[in-house]
Amino acid sequence: MLTLAIIKPDAVKNRLTGKILAHLEADGFVVRAARLVKLTVAEAESFYEVHRARPFFRPLVTFMTSGPALALALERDDAVMRLRDVIGATDPAEAKPGTVRKLYAESKERNAIHASDSPENAAREVGFFFAERELRGL
Ligand code: ATP
Ligand code: MG
Repeated sequence: MLTLAIIKPDAVKNRLTGKILAHLEADGFVVRAARLVKLTVAEAESFYEVHRARPFFRPLVTFMTSGPALALALERDDAVMRLRDVIGATDPAEAKPGTVRKLYAESKERNAIHASDSPENAAREVGFFFAERELRGL
């Protein structure tokens, strides 16, 4: 199955893209589609629509539009839950040792990577970034 990851603007800016991709590939994920994108405000608002009422919504949109981010469609067995495990808790201070956020995140907001949180959201989020013709690979 597929899930959606985004290597966030903090990690791209800090030149951690390669290290994070290597970590995910070593954990068993296969890259099925990838694109570097600088999201518009409207796109980031739409992507994070479920968080619109949260106090962190506006700063989150500002951060996610602050520079290029790398969208990835990743495949493996049980991809959604396994990716959540390997990225770690939202706040790197609470993330387990060896997780992507513990290793590479700056803070709870600038936390290096996004991962879909359910199979339904994974399908929506993969479709948000990628067209069917980009997912035919392998
Ligand atoms: P993501 O959706 O990016 O994979 P997540 O599922 O761990 O992260 P969510 O609760 O969906 O966390 O929040 C989305 C994003 O909003 C977080 O990754 C983080 O960047 C930001 N965020 C969440 N909670 C806070 C907070 N209390 N303060 C600042 N930023 C926050
Ligand atoms: Mg989330």
